[in-house]
Amino acid sequence: MPTRTKLESIFTAVVHRNPGEGEFHQAVREVLDSVAPALDKHPEYADAKIIERICEPERQIIFRVPWEDDRGEVHINRGFRVEFNSALGPYKGGLRFHPSVYLGIVKFLGFEQVFKNALTGMPIGGGKGGSDFDPKGRSDREVMRFCQSFMTELYRHLGEHTDVPAGDIGVGAREIGYLFGQYKRITNRYESGVLTGKGLSYGGAQVRKEATGYGAVFFAEQMLRAAGDSFDGKRVVVSGSGNVAIYAIEKVHQLGGIVVACSDSSGYVLDEQGIDLDLLKDLKEVRRARIDAYIATRPHATFVPGRSVWEVPCEVAVPSATQNEISADDADALIKGGCKIVVEGANMPTSPEAIRALEEAGVRFAPGKAANAGGVAASALEMQQNASRDSWTFEYSEQRLHAIMRDIHDRCYATAEEYGVPGNYVVGANIDGFRRVAEAMLAHGLI
Ligand code: GLU
Repeated sequence: MPTRTKLESIFTAVVHRNPGEGEFHQAVREVLDSVAPALDKHPEYADAKIIERICEPERQIIFRVPWEDDRGEVHINRGFRVEFNSALGPYKGGLRFHPSVYLGIVKFLGFEQVFKNALTGMPIGGGKGGSDFDPKGRSDREVMRFCQSFMTELYRHLGEHTDVPAGDIGVGAREIGYLFGQYKRITNRYESGVLTGKGLSYGGAQVRKEATGYGAVFFAEQMLRAAGDSFDGKRVVVSGSGNVAIYAIEKVHQLGGIVVACSDSSGYVLDEQGIDLDLLKDLKEVRRARIDAYIATRPHATFVPGRSVWEVPCEVAVPSATQNEISADDADALIKGGCKIVVEGANMPTSPEAIRALEEAGVRFAPGKAANAGGVAASALEMQQNASRDSWTFEYSEQRLHAIMRDIHDRCYATAEEYGVPGNYVVGANIDGFRRVAEAMLAHGLI
């Protein structure tokens, strides 16, 4: 049977076995569409049914999370941890707290994480977890009680050599602190390497907080370099205003570009003088406010409610909000606005139709599993520091991150050339990540 036909039937089986999980199907589809030539080169992968095994998580955990709000009312949420693949190391990947979370979202994220983590070249497998809990509008004490209840169930599945969560949407330093405290209390072990993204006062690592955003911009810098260009004077739009977006904006400004717009779920802010980062950090990291509050301090800027930030013309776009935030129409707007490069800071923010449109228009496109791997790479560096009871300086940690992102870029680039699709970072990332996982799985035998 031709490889593509075989992959088609594997995909049909995945859809059948995981009904109603659209985001997971989308993530699998994108990988299966890329790997046919690698399977043709390596018949041993097909014989060992590597693809079929890679698409099936090693373990999926779903649990009840009861907690009490400040008024004494009881709430029940659902918790998830999908331990997807441990061929390269302990399961590694974030926790997402957002009302949209269900098994299909966790599986798409876990699946992406397997390849992303492989691309970093570090010894980490892939997993993801989270809950449909919405931290928005909740007090610190409510968030603490929720995190304690969540960890009271999850702790039994974790360990620095087993499964190591971190943050994602809705899970930042505050949540990681509460989760770590509860893990320590239940297990009576100061096991620093069991969670990453920890605060600097208790085993956290320099540059972890900045790493996803910085890393995405370092990746874009390498794409520009490959085309003989740089960030100098570039007009950039970054969607979102969370952890990834904030540090992407910071690094673009450090490299000489100007970010003119960013957004949250209520709309976007346009500031032709460049986004004021101190103000944005204060709004989002300290006050946890809506983005429209930005214009109270910067009256020359405009807030545009309820519209897509992609209508703002730019040369480089860094989608850093959430999955499928760039529709086909948004892609058209980006192309019309003169966009030359799209670098995914978030996980799968570009819909398949949008990717197709961008590629046809000659826009260079970097998938999140390569471009946003800086976050998890810095997590692996945090684990390394925890294991050796060491802590590195900011400068050294940033150098390491920069070298890792350059390396990921160069390997994606070289793999795309090797497979006859120069400049196609999607194929380069999928094949390079896949080969690494496949080789380790083959070595481990049928498990
Ligand atoms: N949630 C991040 C990601 O999507 C980081 C995961 C981690 O550091 O484990 O890669």
